[in-house]
Amino acid sequence: MEKNNINVLNAALDLLKIAAENLNLEPGLHEFLKYPKRSLIVSVPIEKDNGEIKVFKGYRVQHNDAKGPFKGGVRYSPYTDLNEITALAMWMTWKCAVVDIPYGGAKGGISCNPKELSKRELERATRRYTQMIFQLIGPYRDVPAPDMGTNPEIMGWIMDTYSQIKGYSIPEIVTGKPLHLGGSEIREEATSRGLMFCINETMKKLGKKPKGSTVAIQGYGNVGYHAARLLHDLGYTIIAVSDSTTGILNNKGLHPHQIFENKMKSGVVESEGSVNITNQELLELDCDILIPAATENQITKVNADNIKAKMIAEGANGPTTPAASKILQEKEIFQIPDILGNSGGVTVSYFEWVQNLNREHWSRGEVNQKLKHIITKAFSEVSDMAVKLESDMKTAAITFGVKRVAEAMESLGLWP
Ligand code: NAD
Repeated sequence: MEKNNINVLNAALDLLKIAAENLNLEPGLHEFLKYPKRSLIVSVPIEKDNGEIKVFKGYRVQHNDAKGPFKGGVRYSPYTDLNEITALAMWMTWKCAVVDIPYGGAKGGISCNPKELSKRELERATRRYTQMIFQLIGPYRDVPAPDMGTNPEIMGWIMDTYSQIKGYSIPEIVTGKPLHLGGSEIREEATSRGLMFCINETMKKLGKKPKGSTVAIQGYGNVGYHAARLLHDLGYTIIAVSDSTTGILNNKGLHPHQIFENKMKSGVVESEGSVNITNQELLELDCDILIPAATENQITKVNADNIKAKMIAEGANGPTTPAASKILQEKEIFQIPDILGNSGGVTVSYFEWVQNLNREHWSRGEVNQKLKHIITKAFSEVSDMAVKLESDMKTAAITFGVKRVAEAMESLGLWP
């Protein structure tokens, strides 16, 4: 599967422009927000298992820290580049502001295909990358987390590398760690759980019930799998899922756990009784809820007209281009935007950081209750903004996030 050529940074800047116009933002402040505060490109040389030296490109981009330390995931993907990481860092700034947690926005990554690396090679790349960005990160400076292609084990290696260099154990340097290294309850499913809360709120708004409502999910990694599992448990019917190689459809309903087990064995999504479909066909299925949970630019002006779902709940970052979003709005398809829909991940990351700083461990119930409170409050605030602007939720969320960041920047002033 190849990356399409749409420039994701242009999409991020287009969204910022919409917010700036809605807020009548001072032009200088708008200009300020267009650029990251700091961008670092590093080389990540590793010794492969066969003794060869391979060099990857790595990135850490810090967009804005007006509201707190930088925060953002680390992505391992062959298609990752500086443009993509910059756009994702900017989205993190708005996302943290939408859920009102005291962080700024950052993102990082290595341009590599993690599926082609052995576990030891991945570990060497992670440790070298951490060492290369060491000076930019820190528990009060910039706190990395998992994203596409990375997982709790990799976060553990980041924690260990940082701690080894500093000379003492610093779990609060990174979130999304395994539980036994100070990870938070619920973190692994937090993004999907936040999305589920947003879907439930939307269903209430639209006067619909989970039972009998059909769901199609693109991407069966952390976000896609847990979304399928949680929604299935609530009575939704998961009719289709996909990964980067293929998709499967069964109108009678799929069993998320069974597909996960099959994927663990064979590496692809498969299930008895289902038919194979392409990712494109999955996006265009007639269903109640479509969840893009893979990567950017999946719904564009080329296929937006063919989308038949009644609701799009964005688990991935930037899966819908601004042009496509406009078409979906004209078709009256309800859109739960990424910076609200997938904000459960960074919210529980924030809980993990607070627990680590205080050397505490909260129960599952406590984390779930706090997460639900934050997400439903943000959902309601973005809905109110949509009413005020007479806009869709996507426009409202970006405007709401930019507003909070702009207010913080105005209070801080420009020094010198
Ligand atoms: P992951 O690596 O665990 O899973 C990604 C899934 O998408 C895999 O099944 C992969 O096969 C599939 N995929 C990749 N490219 C694809 C393509 N072009 N078409 C179809 N499928 C494709 O990643 P993840 O952590 O689940 O992240 C998925 C998305 O959610 C990303 O956009 C990420 O930025 C966003 N996100 C993740 C988190 C988190 O906590 N993990 C939080 C917020 C947002």
